[in-house]
Amino acid sequence: MNTIAARLEIIRDRISAVARKAGRDPAEVGLVAVSKTHPAEAVREAMEAGQRAFGENRVQEFLAKVPLLPDAAQWHFIGHLQKNKIRKVLPLAGLIHGVDSSELALAIDRIAGEVGLFPRVLLEVNVAGEGSKFGFTPDDLRAAIDPLLSLPRVQVEGLMTIPPPARDPEAIRPYFARLRQLRDDLVRETATPLPVLSMGMSGDFEVAIEEGATLVRVGTAIFGERMTSDE
Ligand SMILES: *Cc1c(COP(=O)(O)O)cnc(C)c1O
Repeated sequence: MNTIAARLEIIRDRISAVARKAGRDPAEVGLVAVSKTHPAEAVREAMEAGQRAFGENRVQEFLAKVPLLPDAAQWHFIGHLQKNKIRKVLPLAGLIHGVDSSELALAIDRIAGEVGLFPRVLLEVNVAGEGSKFGFTPDDLRAAIDPLLSLPRVQVEGLMTIPPPARDPEAIRPYFARLRQLRDDLVRETATPLPVLSMGMSGDFEVAIEEGATLVRVGTAIFGERMTSDE
């Protein structure tokens, strides 16, 4: 059995098991296989094992990889998106996870109007409040959310976070809980559904699912160690 297929099966089993244990329907939890730094061949192997959703975080690599793979692949852009790259990324990305400022959301909306698309996005929240990280602070997002929800083109489907890394996933649980609480608050305050919570990676996706994740972004545990730095 090939390694990627075997690892995918293990991850799917773990997702189902933890979802059930948490009283959730495993079908509510989507798996984004983070293929950044891995070649198209690795993505193809995962597709042969039934995987469809893939995550990339660098525009150049993303643009090069997409044409090498079947149209059935569903691409998620999970990196920091620079404004001058929006036009290239929009037609290829089914979901943009890292919309980290109102300015970026407005720029995406304007370009989407020009090219005739209705991009689905997640707003990135810096739940740990670290100065150096991308993303809205929870307070900033509360203040900024209303106009973002009424953009004519951009479809805000939920929230995403990348908590600070920690060896013990339990140390990350409070950040996941905070993202979910923020989402629940925003849903109540804006009367808008925000169904997607993108949180959890190889080391902590089970805790994220217990705290309500609907999309987990798993790279290393499926594809192995990355070929190059992704920083
Ligand atoms: C690389 C990356 C992941 C996957 O991380 P792993 O620890 O390899 O599972 C998830 N989310 C984002 C935003 C990433 O950049």
